[in-house]
Amino acid sequence: MKILKINPTHINHDLIRQVVRVLRQGSLVVFPTETVYGIGADVFNKKAIAKIFLAKQRPADNPVIVHIAQMSDLKKIARDISPQARLIAKHFWPGPLTLILPKKPEVSEAVTGGLDTVAVRMPDHPVALALVKALKSPIAAPSANLSGKPSATLINHAISDFGDKIDMYVDSGPAKIGLESTVIDVTVNPPEILRHGAVTKEMLKK
Ligand code: AMP
Ligand code: MG
Repeated sequence: MKILKINPTHINHDLIRQVVRVLRQGSLVVFPTETVYGIGADVFNKKAIAKIFLAKQRPADNPVIVHIAQMSDLKKIARDISPQARLIAKHFWPGPLTLILPKKPEVSEAVTGGLDTVAVRMPDHPVALALVKALKSPIAAPSANLSGKPSATLINHAISDFGDKIDMYVDSGPAKIGLESTVIDVTVNPPEILRHGAVTKEMLKK
């Protein structure tokens, strides 16, 4: 396994390209977001997605969040995006809010746990955004911990859970928020909070 240190305030794009090569091979990468560390794969690589579930010992019916880097990425994975969903996204992204939207057929059911919807967010972390941009594909990534264990807020948490089973770890220091994203279903009216997290109900009501 390899551990790369990438400084979020001064991104080394050679290192970003190294990480992207690993993702293109269909291997998993542990990388930082502002909420917690994620264990990521190219959303469109089914074999790599299967590796996430194996590594985490995650039940196949527990869908993972897909990370995008810009609004134009949204149409690659989601469809029928309502004006209200767009408004919420514009207000909270990049940030710790995950939207549930109808999925595009290109997103496999392995990602969505068999559902016809997909969970999407734009993380507020320069390294995560740089990785998605350089890969030119959204990155599916649940938290970088074994299923049932606390989420990794430091790279060492992830290393102690996965060790050599993961090819590459990207270390950018402690996760700023240290708490999962809030999940909101915007396919229903009014939208429904499915998981409480860093964005509060009061912030959403506003
Ligand atoms: P994480 O483990 O951080 O990737 O969070 C994934 C969580 O997001 C899941 O455990 C669900 O609670 C929620 N989630 C993801 N996709 C969906 C979906 N399509 N519909 C409803 N909830 C979802
Ligand atoms: Mg998790």
